[in-house]
Amino acid sequence: MGGVEPSIFSLIINGEMPCHKVYEDEHVFSFLDVNPFSPGHTLVVPKEAAKTLDALSEESAQAIGRVLPRVSRAVLEVSGASEFNILQNNGPNAFQSVFHVHFHIIPKFQDGRGLAWPFKSNPIDHEDGARMAAAMRDLLS
Ligand code: AMP
Repeated sequence: MGGVEPSIFSLIINGEMPCHKVYEDEHVFSFLDVNPFSPGHTLVVPKEAAKTLDALSEESAQAIGRVLPRVSRAVLEVSGASEFNILQNNGPNAFQSVFHVHFHIIPKFQDGRGLAWPFKSNPIDHEDGARMAAAMRDLLS
């Protein structure tokens, strides 16, 4: 993006940094994560250097959405897992460390290898929920 250092992922996409490449098309690039949570942990990245998902163009979003199931099937087939998580972090407090949109495909094995689920949830506040959903509907209509 204008005047900013290219992300590690842009260097990988441009062939200026090595990777274990899995897939490439006009808009999407995919490669193995260098610090996998489990064997086969794969990243799917738009070539567009948007930092977070909310800043991504519809064209790149469509392209990613189209290939995620296909790359997931290849990850499952090759890793031998039959379950997996998709993880997508946006912002440092949301655990993003590389500021170029990416989806993690993380095989989950019966022995526990893969993503753990440490997150705590609380029952919805329906009054607040109704207000927020209405405000979102307004923005999206
Ligand atoms: P996130 O925390 O969602 O931003 O995830 C960034 C991911 O990129 C981490 O899982 C890293 O292990 C991975 N990563 C960082 N540098 C590289 C690299 N050069 N090649 C492959 N994966 C990388």
